[in-house]
Amino acid sequence: MAHIKQRECVLKIDHVGKVFTQKRNQTVALEDINFDIHRREFVCVVGPSGCGKSTLIRILAGLEDTTSGRILVDGKPVNGPGPDRGMVFQKYTLFPWMDVCRNVMFGIEMGGTSKVEARREAMQWLQIVGLEQFASSFPHQLSGGMQQRVAIVRALAARPRVLLMDESFSALDAQTRLKMQNYLMEIWRKIDITIVFITHDLDEAIYLADRILVLKPRPGRVEEVIEVPLSRPRR
Ligand code: ADP
Ligand code: ADP
Repeated sequence: MAHIKQRECVLKIDHVGKVFTQKRNQTVALEDINFDIHRREFVCVVGPSGCGKSTLIRILAGLEDTTSGRILVDGKPVNGPGPDRGMVFQKYTLFPWMDVCRNVMFGIEMGGTSKVEARREAMQWLQIVGLEQFASSFPHQLSGGMQQRVAIVRALAARPRVLLMDESFSALDAQTRLKMQNYLMEIWRKIDITIVFITHDLDEAIYLADRILVLKPRPGRVEEVIEVPLSRPRR
């Protein structure tokens, strides 16, 4: 890892604005947002309800267009979703008709990997989160925490540059949530991944992030008001 440049910019948010127009009403959800996220950073975006967090992460994922400005991944402007960005939502993220292994294989096969190889890789990912013995279970047979573990490795298995997480642990009870936070940090330390994690919970952000971006409630403007020092070793 020594060859990795310290401040390599993976995700650039360049003058991004978003206005929702419905009939005569216009809602400014985001206004002139600018920030860079660097390789292997774990960034949390916090802010009160309605400040535009979901809109921002949907734009980053390519699920929503910008009204102005653009998103760059590794210096290249992106349009729409792409394999360079993985996404984990709050709930219902797994395909209910596929078993756990097939769910994880899905992302790998999208990259053109053969079925046999995809199955082998999927099993390795499931081992990382201690769920290899649930490979042939279906999502509804797993607890909420277990399903989110599968959702995380399914997203990571496609080898994205950035993992985007939208309130991914908010639907879980406090104890499960803490376990999931620890799982996620453990994975993040082990692999070359950049994480952007949206949460309304400041405690969660402080626990997870090495940098926190605060999205101000009134139109737009991200301000980097808190730098959480990286006191925990990455590996
Ligand atoms: P947060 O995730 O921080 O709660 P959102 O991104 O959901 O904030 O919303 C930001 C603003 O944009 C809010 O005023 C919300 O009402 C508005 N908004 C979000 N999505 C839509 C939409 N699809 N149509 C119209 N307005 C929207
Ligand atoms: P949640 O995070 O939703 O609470 P847990 O991971 O704590 O889910 O697991 C819920 C239950 O599922 C546990 O009580 C345990 O019996 C079972 N379980 C979870 N992970 C495993 C595992 N790797 N192997 C066997 N059983 C497991």
